[in-house]
Amino acid sequence: MIFDHETQEIEDTPGKRPRPSFKGCLVVLAGLALLGIFVGSLYPLISQRMADEKWRQCCTQLTFLAESASVFAGKNQGYYPRQLKTLIEQGYLTRVPQCPASTGGAGYQYRFISVKGRPGFLLYCPDGHGRGMWREPRPLGFPQYHSESGLRESAEETGS
Ligand SMILES: [Zn+2]
Repeated sequence: MIFDHETQEIEDTPGKRPRPSFKGCLVVLAGLALLGIFVGSLYPLISQRMADEKWRQCCTQLTFLAESASVFAGKNQGYYPRQLKTLIEQGYLTRVPQCPASTGGAGYQYRFISVKGRPGFLLYCPDGHGRGMWREPRPLGFPQYHSESGLRESAEETGS
C-alpha cells in the first residue's frame, strides 16, 4: 500500500519540475565551446614544451655517450670504439640510454669514421624528434655529436 502511494507521488511530480530553458541550454553550450577553445589553444604550447624538453635530454645523453667514447679513446691510443656496445663490454658505460622521444626505434646510432686520416666518430639520434605535434619539426638524424665539431642540432652546423 505504501509503495502504491509513493509511486503515485512520483508520477505526479514531473509536471511540477521547471523545464530547462532553451536559453539556459545555449549558455551551457557556449560555455563548453569556450572551454574547448581554451584547452585546444593550450595543447600545442604544452606539447611544444614537452618536445623541447625531450630534445634537451637527448642532447645531454648524446654528449654523455660522446664523453664516454672520448675517455675510451684516451686510454686506447686515440682510437674510438668501433661500436657503442664496446663501451659497455669494457665498463665505460652500464647501458646505452634511450632517447626520451624514441618510439621504440633503433636507438642511438654510432659510426666509427675517419676525420682527415684520424679516427673519429659520429653519434646521432635517428628519429623521434620530427614526429608528433611539432610546430617546427626537427631534422631527421639530429641531434648528432661529431668527434671533431661536437654537438650539432641541425644540418647548418655540419659545415657541409
Ligand atoms: Zn633523440
